[in-house]
Amino acid sequence: MKTIQDINFEGKKALIRVDFNVPLDENFKVTDATRIEAAKPTIIKILEDGGAVVLMSHLGRPKGAEVKFSLQHIVEKVSEILGVQVKFASNCVGEVAESAAFNLKMGEVLLLENLRFHAEETKGDIEFAKQLSKLGDVYVNDAFGTAHRAHASTTIVAQFFPNNKCFGNLLAQEIISIKKVLEDSEKPVLAILGGAKVSSKITIIENILDKVDHLIIGGGMSFTFVKAQGGKIGKSICEDDKQALALDILKQAKEKGVQVHIPVDVVAADDFSNDANTQICDIYNIPDGWEGVDAGPKSREIFDKIVNESKTILWNGPLGVFEMESFAQGTIALGNSIANATKNGTFSLVGGGDSVAAVKQFGFQDKVSYVSTGGGAMLESLEGKTLPGIEAILK
Ligand code: AMP
Repeated sequence: MKTIQDINFEGKKALIRVDFNVPLDENFKVTDATRIEAAKPTIIKILEDGGAVVLMSHLGRPKGAEVKFSLQHIVEKVSEILGVQVKFASNCVGEVAESAAFNLKMGEVLLLENLRFHAEETKGDIEFAKQLSKLGDVYVNDAFGTAHRAHASTTIVAQFFPNNKCFGNLLAQEIISIKKVLEDSEKPVLAILGGAKVSSKITIIENILDKVDHLIIGGGMSFTFVKAQGGKIGKSICEDDKQALALDILKQAKEKGVQVHIPVDVVAADDFSNDANTQICDIYNIPDGWEGVDAGPKSREIFDKIVNESKTILWNGPLGVFEMESFAQGTIALGNSIANATKNGTFSLVGGGDSVAAVKQFGFQDKVSYVSTGGGAMLESLEGKTLPGIEAILK
């Protein structure tokens, strides 16, 4: 796996695909710069080598060149974070981009206008990719969040750099972390899958059954499993058409020697609102008119023990409706358990969608081993797919 650490960038212009798809407020100010901060180590290493940097990214989902999606809005923020005044090219291809890249001196940084102002980007157009390729000597992919897309800048452009392409630090870390969980993992390995639906996680479950010793199925997903086994779940969220699948997963797990743990008790609410009445129920016996919204105290205790006995942990999906304070306690307790295990040497990876939001919201990001930056890309990796953006560098 070739990374930026394997290349000396002195005198070279690096064309880096970053993920600067950051949120902006109504005055076009960046409200969360995490993604810019995340790309900083890669950019700084290249500048310190004595190279120059051409940054390309998308922002939002523009239909053509819409001013509100211009990357011009983030130039000052990127400059502030890098400590270098960043130059801007008002088009990512063509004369404007080519002359800006040509005139760029070593130690300088150029940010190109939003790639998605051109429909060719998401179509993976080869001519468009060829135009992008003129803007640098080395292609660096550091955008994990878009690595599952075969877009021009994330995948197709790599073929124009057969011997001069590599992973940035961020993307390399993502790949190493996934490998640590799915391939080179220290046993016992635990996967915790929560969130709303079985249907969105089924391919992940099927892929990881061969790789884990324990599987915790929590959150809204668990009720489909409970109902399928004859439990009474009240008005809890359930995918009736996935009950047979749930039973099949339990059967497969048994055959593969994977121990499956479903919450034994839940916080049940009489309404889907933060100030609903609540009671603790056996998960197999939830009264009519009540719905399970969080893992109960006994479950939290059982999960704490399993977490602390594991050497490798993958966490995807909350244990309850964590967006509502009253139903966040199970997810917070799990975060604390994982933080404690991590402190004692367990490798913990949090990735994919809402668990990352939960981890950030409750301040666990520095207490787990790795928090993935790519929602969809992480989910596809966990499903066992080879991401086109990664494959294009390895080829
Ligand atoms: P996902 O994106 O699949 O990880 O699902 C995350 C969502 O699942 C969050 O918005 C949670 O509020 C929701 N969720 C978790 N547990 C439950 C539950 N018991 N009932 C309804 N929604 C839930």
